[in-house]
Amino acid sequence: MTPTPFPPGSTIGILGGGQLARMLCMEAKRMGYRTLVWTGGLEAPATALCDAVIELPFDDVIAISQFTTAADVATAEFENIPRATLDAVAAGVTLRPSASAIATCANREQEKTFLREQNIPCAPFWIVTNAEELARAMQELNGPGVLKTSAFGYDGKGQRKLLGTENAIVVWEEFQAPRAILEGFITFQSELSVMIARNPAGEVRCFDPVENQHRHHILDLTIAPAAISLELHQQAIAIATRIVSAFDYVGIMGVEFFLQAGGIILVNEMAPRPHNSGHHTIDACETSQFEQQLRAVCGLPLGSTKLLCPAVMLNLLGDMWPGIDQAPDWSIVLSDPSAALHLYGKKRAIERRKMGHVTFLGTQAHDRAENIKARLLAAGLGLR
Ligand code: AMP
Repeated sequence: MTPTPFPPGSTIGILGGGQLARMLCMEAKRMGYRTLVWTGGLEAPATALCDAVIELPFDDVIAISQFTTAADVATAEFENIPRATLDAVAAGVTLRPSASAIATCANREQEKTFLREQNIPCAPFWIVTNAEELARAMQELNGPGVLKTSAFGYDGKGQRKLLGTENAIVVWEEFQAPRAILEGFITFQSELSVMIARNPAGEVRCFDPVENQHRHHILDLTIAPAAISLELHQQAIAIATRIVSAFDYVGIMGVEFFLQAGGIILVNEMAPRPHNSGHHTIDACETSQFEQQLRAVCGLPLGSTKLLCPAVMLNLLGDMWPGIDQAPDWSIVLSDPSAALHLYGKKRAIERRKMGHVTFLGTQAHDRAENIKARLLAAGLGLR
């Protein structure tokens, strides 16, 4: 039997208070929901928009009880939350996605093992917990690879590229992680991603695959839709569908892929929440990824994922700010009538910090995005 939905008027508890929680709060407000944000940090972007806030560490026992008492249903905006906290939250309130789905996606070792068990194509990988295991893995890989920490890795953090000829003892000593995976280095043509949602009734809806381009290992541009064949489009959606079904997942998930020559797609990683590569959906789709997350988490029917027009999302990183607390000249962006500016309300610009994004709609969106990016970068701090 499908569980009873949480109708507008209910309180959504959100673990995390960053920009993803902020954008979720905006949609929640529009749809008549209340939001309770639990953030471990001060001045978190979502706190300006939520109805209530808990500003305490994620292992605080009182915070867990406050959160589970006040929320009708809970979700997360990031996955690096202690497993014990996820379990304690799930014991007190409906948590969607489940603690185990969030925890699996938060740990590269568990995530890749899950993919292998499900026979879902991904890069070859070896679990490494000491220098001997690294040496053996490098020998078996016999070529270039990427060493990644098992936990707390995102935006290229906790990663090191290996040629395969390095001394494993030295590499392991320098890497300073208790556990890691060694992945084969994938020569890809492009990187793709898909946002997919599943509700408690098992209804699944997928947004069109998009192409992602990175700058300094951080998402730079998302191009929607990705210029790929119908066959690849369907393949990416079929893989994402298999993943959410295998988890019995409820919520929204971002699935990232490598596209290799010859039309082979491999899963890179999954995000058990809205994803930066789905931000264009706010302005370019019938339903945004945040509304879709709400619908899935609250047990409502899912919305249409139709892309209304081609779109390109440009991330605004701190290196585009002329000074730490001096914002860019926004007329650079606002002079384009089909560009939607989104700012996250972060006070200080740090080079790699995600400060906002712009979605360019319609014709020549990519050229317009590149042009404005160049102008913002020319006036900005730059990456030191
Ligand atoms: P991740 O944090 O795992 O998403 O990695 C960040 C970026 O590093 C990816 O978007 C890729 O551009 C690159 N990368 C990660 N893993 C690999 C790999 N196995 N082979 C080639 N490039 C990779």
